[in-house]
Amino acid sequence: MKYKKNIFSINNIAVSKLANKFGTPLYCYSFEKIRENIRNLKKNFKSISPLMCFAVKSNPNLRIIHEIGKMGLGADVVSKGELLKALKAKIKPNKIVFSGVGKTKSELNFAIQKKILLINAESESEILDIEKIAKLKKIKVNIGIRLNPNTDAKTLSQISTGKKENKFGVDKMEFLKLAEYCKNSKNLELKCLSAHIGSQILNYKPYEKMLKVIDSILKKLNHKFEYIDLGGGMGIRYNQKDKMLDYKRYNYFIKKFKNKNKNKIIFEPGRSIIGNAGVLLSKVIHLKENKFKTFIIIDAGMNDLMRPALYNAKHEIIPAKKNKIKQNKLYEFVGPICESTDKFLTIKKFQKIKKNDLIVIRDTGAYGYSLSSNYNIRPKPAEILVKGSNYSIIQKRQKIEDLI
Ligand code: PLP
Repeated sequence: MKYKKNIFSINNIAVSKLANKFGTPLYCYSFEKIRENIRNLKKNFKSISPLMCFAVKSNPNLRIIHEIGKMGLGADVVSKGELLKALKAKIKPNKIVFSGVGKTKSELNFAIQKKILLINAESESEILDIEKIAKLKKIKVNIGIRLNPNTDAKTLSQISTGKKENKFGVDKMEFLKLAEYCKNSKNLELKCLSAHIGSQILNYKPYEKMLKVIDSILKKLNHKFEYIDLGGGMGIRYNQKDKMLDYKRYNYFIKKFKNKNKNKIIFEPGRSIIGNAGVLLSKVIHLKENKFKTFIIIDAGMNDLMRPALYNAKHEIIPAKKNKIKQNKLYEFVGPICESTDKFLTIKKFQKIKKNDLIVIRDTGAYGYSLSSNYNIRPKPAEILVKGSNYSIIQKRQKIEDLI
């Protein structure tokens, strides 16, 4: 994904060609970038050879899950809907883990029926529900317990999940109590300790701390966990200032841990696989100036890309065609939605821009389409996958009639 003679292109295909053909707003993904990200993870974590379960919530497109599955990954799901998608994308049940604080009995029943690898339980109440179902079926169900290690992931507070004030997992004392309970249950097989401290983590130190907490629990419990599921959270560079997470350092600490405890490792990466493999194309509808700034009103709104409104996340915006006429003005890229938070970026300079120009919102592959909605009765955009010199629709644009 780069400029080729001033034209932003994916595998040498000008994004303007895709926008003209499929309309805007439009999500476009590069298969090659997804593959590169997966290869990079596999290479850096080769010595611990984790089972990587793609976090479906980051991008639940069937074709994308299928392509990722073909590269050997499993899936991390958080609802019956995601589980159904993972299965439909031909992910083997023995590579699927199920996380989430609020799994209903019907969801648990379904997951048990499908014989997935692990249900990572997040409360005593959930464990009792699983046990009840297993008892009725006269079987033993493989479970994990999600630990809340009270570790600050040093990321946005909204996507931090491993501190004691967060709803996720159980604290150390509760973990020890629940583990003892599971060990004595005829219908539960406690196979895993899982943790996920947050998303968009750029520093290995929180992971190092998390591993220390896990280690201290293992020391206290006389139990052999087949798996330690370290969750996802590996961050990406949304701007040039972001430092990449040092995979090698993270790998080093896991390796040390693994050598000592001899467990298999599970990862649940989402953003690190798909985040920088997607862009959102959008057209300028209007320009509007007031005394303070120039609003660039584009046809993508917070319903299409929620992260800026939800987390104040910043995505770089670039022109689809460079013109080299720089303008030093205060610009604000905003959407058409009736909310003041429907804005993407405020910047001090951009190239000369006019109505109908095409812009590219970068790094929107993760938590882009998956967080989109029909707010303001706006149809969801289409999604395109570029693979080699081919491209195809992998999700049709919703029709406005479907929403009325
Ligand atoms: N696993 C769990 C339990 C999650 O909640 C999440 C997302 O927050 C992920 C994995 C994926 O995280 P990321 O996309 O940051 O890798």
